[in-house]
Amino acid sequence: MESYLYSSTFAYSGIHGGTTWDSATADPILLPALSTRDFALISSNSAMSRLDKTLAYMATPIHLEHLDICTESDPGAFQNCGRCGKCGRFLLIAEAEGTIGTYAEIFDIARFRASRWKNVRQLTKLVHHRKYNPNDRDHLVYLRDKGADLPLSARAAGRLSAAWSRLR
Ligand SMILES: [Zn+2]
Repeated sequence: MESYLYSSTFAYSGIHGGTTWDSATADPILLPALSTRDFALISSNSAMSRLDKTLAYMATPIHLEHLDICTESDPGAFQNCGRCGKCGRFLLIAEAEGTIGTYAEIFDIARFRASRWKNVRQLTKLVHHRKYNPNDRDHLVYLRDKGADLPLSARAAGRLSAAWSRLR
């Protein structure tokens, strides 16, 4: 039997089969149902949060050439654009860990720095957005606890944008 290990988006605490804006909340439920006798779809590492997985990877960053977390269809000269939500979230953590230089070959760090304020705003927005994502909350709390530079103006703009999302 062949298998495909699909990296889970959410830890078990975020898994449910109810109404959702992200089908990943049901990965451990749906993937076995989509499997066949010959091909198993497996949600891997659902016991870990996205932040736990990020920190575990950063402790031993291997196979950088295969680290592709970017959501941009055209990330530019690098395999990871450095400014989309996923790149931004990852690099904010790397920056807080003091390891951002490790990723200079595969992320556009200059683009990250140019869009850092927007990434903080976006992360704050998603934490308070009606489409709540526990991964974003975990990351923002971690960054705050690490004493990361989270500009007040970016956090305020994120909160306002999230409040607007709740009015619609
Ligand atoms: Zn990206």
